[in-house]
Order: sequence, then C-alpha cells, then structure tokens
Amino acid sequence: MYHVDMNTIMRANNLTSNSKLTMGQVLVIPDTQGPVPVIPLYPSKKWQYIVIHHTATEAGNAMTINDLHHKRGFWNGLGYHFLIDNGTDGKQQGLIEVGPRWVKQSDGAHANADGMNQKGIGISLVGNFSETRVPEHMLDSLVFLVQTLQNYYGIPDSHVIRHRDVKGKHTECPGNNFPWQEFKHRLSMA
Ligand SMILES: [Zn+2]
Repeated sequence: MYHVDMNTIMRANNLTSNSKLTMGQVLVIPDTQGPVPVIPLYPSKKWQYIVIHHTATEAGNAMTINDLHHKRGFWNGLGYHFLIDNGTDGKQQGLIEVGPRWVKQSDGAHANADGMNQKGIGISLVGNFSETRVPEHMLDSLVFLVQTLQNYYGIPDSHVIRHRDVKGKHTECPGNNFPWQEFKHRLSMA
C-alpha cells in the first residue's frame, strides 16, 4: 500500500527474514507518498452480503478496536473485516484498514443474527454516527470499498445492508445520522 518494496522496508527497520513482527509494532516506511487503498480479493462463494457498522466510539483504529473487541470477549479480536478510519489514533481520515479476519477469510463477529457472520462482509466506520455526521472522505472510501467488493463477489445493492437491517437485530448501528439514502444512491450510480 506504500509502493515501497519489502527489502527497503526491512533495511530501514533492521529486520531480517527471521524477524517476527508483533501487533502494534511501528515500522518506518521510507520514501513514500503515503498509503493508497489496496483491497485484497480472494475467490470465494461465501460472501453474499455486506453489512455496514459504526464503532460507536469517538476514536479508534484497527489496533485499538481489536483491543476493545478482545475485552468484550470476541475470541479473535477485531470482529469486522474492514475498518474505515476517521483521522484519530494516528490514522488518516478515510484510510481503509484490512482486518486479519479478511486476510484469513474467516467468519466475522459483527452481526450474530440470521447467519450474517458467516455470509456477510463486516465493514465498520470509526465514529459514533448517532451523534456526529459521517465525514465526506470516509463516505468516499466506503463507496469505493463496497463497490470493489460488490463487483468481485457479485453482491447486489439489495444485499448491502446496515447492521440494524439484519433480521432479529435491535440496534441503531450505524447510527441515525448515517446518510443511508445518499450512500445507496451513490452505489446505484456505479
Ligand atoms: Zn454494528
């Protein structure tokens, strides 16, 4: 995502091929213009829905939300497959973070009704959109991410849903200020 090759990153950080990386370790990325979105795609028939969430927190990134989910007892940490950052906790606003569950193609832990953890890709925006509005950069990133996933997995617009739309779920998620009509309109224009 930084357009810097692995050997350059290894040299800049005194890493060898035997080095082990740990979660939360800070790496120096030399000579980069900054991250560009890279969305890894894996052939699969598993994914039929996309479920949109908010974290209901003011701040966060994949690491800190991972810790939060661990504390809530989610056995594998970050319950979503993707997280869209809001410019807090050292991340730029609109950055798309890919969670370990997506890389491993594991079930989510984000919507435990109607079998949605098994068939739904969980995407969460950092923020509490019961209280604030969704920043434009974050909505742009969400549209890009969702369209990329829809195109690859053949997921129709009708299967792009909010957490609150999952059958048997009583939640406001992703918040009453989430611009759902505008978002769905932008998907339909693709
Ligand atoms: Zn949710």
